Amino acid sequence: MSESNIGVKAMHEIMRKAKKYDELLVFPSIENELQCDFCGKFQSELNKMIAARRVVICNECVEVCNQVLEEDNS
Ligand SMILES: [Zn+2]
Repeated sequence: MSESNIGVKAMHEIMRKAKKYDELLVFPSIENELQCDFCGKFQSELNKMIAARRVVICNECVEVCNQVLEEDNS
């Protein structure tokens, strides 16, 4: 689980920095787990999550997105 711990740390760092620049950010409490806005799974169920300004996406949903994009290209 060390890999995901690093990811969580990095994400919290990003969120902390982001908050300085955008007061409108509405993240769930940083103490709480992140939840993927696409599939609703929680951080603890997933390998990695990517947090944007108001949206969080997990590695599984990124894979689905990649598949959709690949289908469009072929
Ligand atoms: Zn997801």
